[in-house]
Amino acid sequence: MVNLSKELENAKTIGISGHIRPDGDCIGSVMGLFLYIKKTKPDASVHVFLEEPADIFSCIKDIDEIEDAKDCHEDFDIFFCLDCDKTRLGEAERLFDSARTTINIDHHVSNPGCGDYNYIVPKASSASELVYDLLDKEYVDRDIAMALYIGIIHDTGVMQYSNTSPKTVRIVADLLEFGFDFPRLIDETFYEKTYMQTQIAAQVLSECKLFCDGKVAFGNVTKETMEAFGAKSHDLDGIVNQLRLIKGVEVGMFMYELPTGEQKVSLRSRSYVNVAKVCETFKGGGHVRAAGCTVSMDVDTALSSILKCIEEQI
Ligand code: 5GP
Ligand code: MN
Repeated sequence: MVNLSKELENAKTIGISGHIRPDGDCIGSVMGLFLYIKKTKPDASVHVFLEEPADIFSCIKDIDEIEDAKDCHEDFDIFFCLDCDKTRLGEAERLFDSARTTINIDHHVSNPGCGDYNYIVPKASSASELVYDLLDKEYVDRDIAMALYIGIIHDTGVMQYSNTSPKTVRIVADLLEFGFDFPRLIDETFYEKTYMQTQIAAQVLSECKLFCDGKVAFGNVTKETMEAFGAKSHDLDGIVNQLRLIKGVEVGMFMYELPTGEQKVSLRSRSYVNVAKVCETFKGGGHVRAAGCTVSMDVDTALSSILKCIEEQI
């Protein structure tokens, strides 16, 4: 385990980042750690780098302090890579590489650890859970607790997915002691969808197709549809889960086209297909029940190649 207070002791400049297209756990863990370090090291210069978070995360304290790594050229004393390995940091990878000491905190099976110090626990529900492990609990406050709680509920589907452990629930119990309005947080950051998001999901679901005797449900969004709806990638969150929940389906497969013409693929499985293994074949990764990759193929080729891999496990 990383000794956070020891590593931070002599650090004057500290950078924190997470993966490109940040999800709830990435944002929650990064912001939780950011708020904690600012509080415990008031004299240090602490910077947080992420791609622009979705509006739903505006309830997290100091989220407007997030910076674009592109504009930074500092060599940090310590740089943290959260919820991924350094190759998924985007622009911030350069800052990670130039830092004096690097720390990697992650829960992805496919990550062997890329820092001078690594805290990689594949069975942990979320990077947020791992950040909580490392904190001196005496300094955890309501704002830090809320950020980490958001991270945990996002990666566990509100404590529903199989990555939820008794330890996860105990941590959540500790966090709830801070008395924030958790039903509202769950609604507003996890379940609530805008009209546009609902319409785009409805279109995908009404056109989705079943394969492998109904065990795989596939849906996709083209670049043109993204443009017509004015949708960004985070507007598509949750669609893959609805595909997975169709009765009889083991694997939900969702793809959307990036501006580059590549396909961003998300896979979710219900009980036995290891989707991390499927995605690793395409240079992606993730978890046993939730994984992703990006492929330079047209939709039909991507669909048939990935189906072939899934079929080996069905
Ligand atoms: P999503 O389908 O929501 O993009 O991602 C599901 C899980 O797989 C997340 O934990 C995410 O971090 C991981 N993941 C998604 N895309 C990639 C990828 O291209 N490479 C790796 N290593 N992990 C990914
Ligand atoms: Mn995560």
